[in-house]
Amino acid sequence: MCALLVGLPDVTIVGVGEWPRWLRVVVTAECERPSCCGRAAWCHGIRDVVLVDLPVFGRPTRLVWRKQRWRCSTCRRSWTGQKPEIASSRCQLTTRAAKWATLQVGRHGRSVAEVASDLGCDWHTVMDAVVLYGTPLIDDPARFGAVTAVGLDETLFARQGPFRRQRWSTQIVDVRHGQLLDIVAGRDSTGSCRWFAARPEAWRAGIEWATLDLSASYRTVFDTMLPDATQVADPFHVTRLANTALDECRRRVQNETVGHRGRKADPLYRARRRLVMARERLSDDGHECLLGLLRAGDPKQEVWFAWNAKEVVRQIYDHTDVVLAEAWVAEIVRDFTDTEMPPEVRRLGRTIGRWRDQIVAWHRSHVTNGPTEAVNNLVKRIKRVAFGMRNFAHYRIRSLLYAGKPNWDLLDSLTPP
Ligand SMILES: [Zn+2]
Repeated sequence: MCALLVGLPDVTIVGVGEWPRWLRVVVTAECERPSCCGRAAWCHGIRDVVLVDLPVFGRPTRLVWRKQRWRCSTCRRSWTGQKPEIASSRCQLTTRAAKWATLQVGRHGRSVAEVASDLGCDWHTVMDAVVLYGTPLIDDPARFGAVTAVGLDETLFARQGPFRRQRWSTQIVDVRHGQLLDIVAGRDSTGSCRWFAARPEAWRAGIEWATLDLSASYRTVFDTMLPDATQVADPFHVTRLANTALDECRRRVQNETVGHRGRKADPLYRARRRLVMARERLSDDGHECLLGLLRAGDPKQEVWFAWNAKEVVRQIYDHTDVVLAEAWVAEIVRDFTDTEMPPEVRRLGRTIGRWRDQIVAWHRSHVTNGPTEAVNNLVKRIKRVAFGMRNFAHYRIRSLLYAGKPNWDLLDSLTPP
């Protein structure tokens, strides 16, 4: 009955006992006497290996594997028998517990700490098992096939040290299918260039579209590694740039007119949320209120200009026609760089001018809102499960298991050494 409950092949249950913190199941595994240097090995005592197993009837459990040690009389080597179907020698979890933990953390997006508390063991014990069993799944060459549209996106993944130094990574995403292809450390061009260089020539040649935020380093990556792909500026980042310009303008005007940073009663400070909201999401009352606040706090109408600039930039994406969009962007660049405009808007105009081709390419690419939004959601989801992981390798495995569509079918047959 006990053997049936434990459910492991070729083991004998020696005993079961209740310990204060967990249930202990002691087993031995039969194995033949091995030989070394042409002679049968000697018995060399017994060693108890304590392994974390799946919880039994709601109680954390340890499987104690009473292992036979062997010794060679000629070369003096000593060793113990291995049975990877019970547990790998490189893992403190039994094989079935390690596979379960990998599924929980990878597929279901549970936190490592949660899974560790279910098993009644240490955070690192679980993470080591996830690394050991997860790595073959994400290294599987069949994980992603041909890709026609690829995107680069910078992500903050942890803050570290006494000064909360920011640590950045670059996510490489298949923007058509919303699949995370890989993550490289840093947000400069070197890591991503190396990643693309490691792909086969034919795979790179199949990429027609390359989306990026408005950063020069990713432009370098695409210019050097994917010279034939059409670069597309991600609409999300273009609108965010306009919002940032508006925000900077509001802060500056606030400071110039009142002489201090925004306080609760200041009209510009009260308008800050309504300013960055989309015009069509403001109710009529909200719009009136915004205009009133601007009249009160914006004597030279600079914030008003910046707000209009933001709306005009958003309207780039209302156009469905390439020619119209091109004309619209050209007009934006001309109007924004007018000397009457506040400096923030002029700078925005210059930036848009530099990225004009990439912005209009969005209309030509038909990389529609769908994929881009899927990618933004993907990034949010990854942040939820993996943000704050100090170790980059852990962060990469965690994110790829969750959002990189690893080959889960492989997990069942996996037997690490
Ligand atoms: Zn030997």
